[in-house]
Amino acid sequence: MPRRVRDMLMAPKAPLFGPNVGALAFLSRQAPCAVVGSRAMSSVPFLNTPEALRQLANQPHTPCQCSLQHCAGWESVSEASWPAQQMQHVATLRDPDVYEPTFEEQHSNGTRYDSADAPVALKFFPYNRCDVYACGKCQQHALRYTEFGGYYVDPRARRLAAELITD
Ligand SMILES: [Zn+2]
Repeated sequence: MPRRVRDMLMAPKAPLFGPNVGALAFLSRQAPCAVVGSRAMSSVPFLNTPEALRQLANQPHTPCQCSLQHCAGWESVSEASWPAQQMQHVATLRDPDVYEPTFEEQHSNGTRYDSADAPVALKFFPYNRCDVYACGKCQQHALRYTEFGGYYVDPRARRLAAELITD
């Protein structure tokens, strides 16, 4: 770590007595900004057409032996069970210009949120807030987003199937 950054992180020094209320308020204000900032600076491309996503999904791959093979539809995949060491973040479906993407879902053929054959509808929930990952072992792609409840976060993942991608 560069020394200048480390010095910035070390300051301000907390006093040895009593809670440093000022520092705590400072940290709680800064933390969310840091997250937003790092996301905005993400270098992966934003895919906004079905064709672009289909191109990724159609890349040659082998039958999936990784832990995502059961995620034909959306499944909860905790941080602990997500195979992070072999998943590469390759793209995002989140439009950087849209602050709050719609929560509306698209199911023109009577599918449900977690159906294995639900369409991958780019402009609809939850695809409009997904990141795209590639498995380093089988070269298949997976979509991922985080479901936010009142008191919990629930990371969800779904294997990407080219034939289900729609606008
Ligand atoms: Zn795999």
